[in-house]
Amino acid sequence: MLMFCPICANVLVVEEGNNCYRFACNTCPYIRNMTRKLTSRRYPKLKEVDDVLGGADAWKNVDNTEANCPKESCENDRAYFMQIQTRSADEPMTTFYKCCKCGHRWKDG
Ligand SMILES: [Zn+2]
Ligand SMILES: [Zn+2]
Repeated sequence: MLMFCPICANVLVVEEGNNCYRFACNTCPYIRNMTRKLTSRRYPKLKEVDDVLGGADAWKNVDNTEANCPKESCENDRAYFMQIQTRSADEPMTTFYKCCKCGHRWKDG
C-alpha cells in the first residue's frame, strides 16, 4: 500500500511508532498514525506530536536558527526549527526545520 505525503507529495515510509505503526515522510515532518495497534504496552501518546506538526499554525511563533536550506535553488541560511521527541523517551530528539525563505522542510536525527 503506497501513501503519499499531503504536504510534499513524497512517498511515505512505514515505521514503528510508540504504540502503533505509522506513515512518516522522510523529507518533511508529516506523520500519520495507523489505527492498528502493535502491542498493548503503554507508551506516551503520539497525539501531542501530531498536533504540533499537523496543525495549521504548527510553524507559527517558532524560533529560527542558522541552518542551511538543502534546496539547491535556495541555500538560505536561516530556518525555523522545532525539537520533538518522536520516538521513545530514551532516543534523541528529532529536529525539524523549515526554511525561512522557501518553506522547504527537512529533519535531523
Ligand atoms: Zn512530506
Ligand atoms: Zn530554502
